[in-house]
Amino acid sequence: MFELAGKKVWVAGHSGMVGSAVVRRLESESCKLLLVPHSELDLRRQDKVEQWMQEHRPDAVFVAAATVGGIHANSTRPAEFIYDNLSIELNIIHAAHVCGVKKLLFLGSSCIYPKFAPQPITEDALLSGTLEPTNEFYAIAKIAGIKLCAAYRWQYGCDFISAMPSNVYGINDNFNQQMSHVIPGLLRRIHEAKLQGVPSVAVWGSGAVRREFIFSEDLADGLVYLMKCYSGEQHVNIGSGEDITIRQLADMLVDVVGYKGEITFDTSKPDGTPRKLLDISAIKAMGWHPETPLRKGLEEMYRWFTNQSAGAIRGA
Ligand code: GDP
Repeated sequence: MFELAGKKVWVAGHSGMVGSAVVRRLESESCKLLLVPHSELDLRRQDKVEQWMQEHRPDAVFVAAATVGGIHANSTRPAEFIYDNLSIELNIIHAAHVCGVKKLLFLGSSCIYPKFAPQPITEDALLSGTLEPTNEFYAIAKIAGIKLCAAYRWQYGCDFISAMPSNVYGINDNFNQQMSHVIPGLLRRIHEAKLQGVPSVAVWGSGAVRREFIFSEDLADGLVYLMKCYSGEQHVNIGSGEDITIRQLADMLVDVVGYKGEITFDTSKPDGTPRKLLDISAIKAMGWHPETPLRKGLEEMYRWFTNQSAGAIRGA
């Protein structure tokens, strides 16, 4: 058991969707939060990261900082996805070792698994097959992060762990159409079509592929749980345990938004991997369960989206 009360906890990437949810969740842990904006610390600069960590000496670190994006961003900006993510994790993990950080949690992604991994995907499917090409560069960086944590554990005895979430959605998501994942992308398009009386909205791809989604607040709760209760080399899957087709998701979003138009499918856009459902039995056996059904999470996200002024929404 790693107690957070009284500890200095750095959430790297605190302005992103996952990082900000972790910050909200940590408010009930009586720890001292360390947060540094991107404008003050570029995590891709090794010397700056080491200097900042030497100065602030966190006891625990959540590595939620990353260059992330949906299928379009991943396919068109591979150099940024591999360079940014490799340097962020390399710099933070090494500096954490140098500065004697007691516990570190590295956040990966379900895209680390092979494109045709047996479903639901167990943790040991890692490196058992070829990756999905649309997010290969991001996945390679995230696999390196898992292996960094494992290597520093073996060689130096660092208590560094890794968590692999399924597709995350929720509060503070990125709604920019060029960057976003499917939920914020479609939610915004359907919402705007409703307001402007547009008769149809195009969903990218065939709509037949399946995805699992976890609500930002559930993920943050699971990450804090792992930080407190898990110590081991094996990375741990974290998801909702259920998947749906993109067509079913689009229908649900139409319902949540209250849009009366039609959904069409633009098959000139890529589908990506056919299915990505995580096996979450390991984290469930530790005593953690996801709480928010997809429909409820989408309603909460839509409420949040419509309550923000346009300027406060990333990408809108
Ligand atoms: P992925 O899990 O890495 O493929 O991430 P995405 O969330 O970007 O895409 C999931 C699936 O939703 C893919 O099959 C996309 O083609 C499909 N999709 C449908 N409409 C959209 C959209 O508006 N934005 C994004 N990003 N994906 C969409």
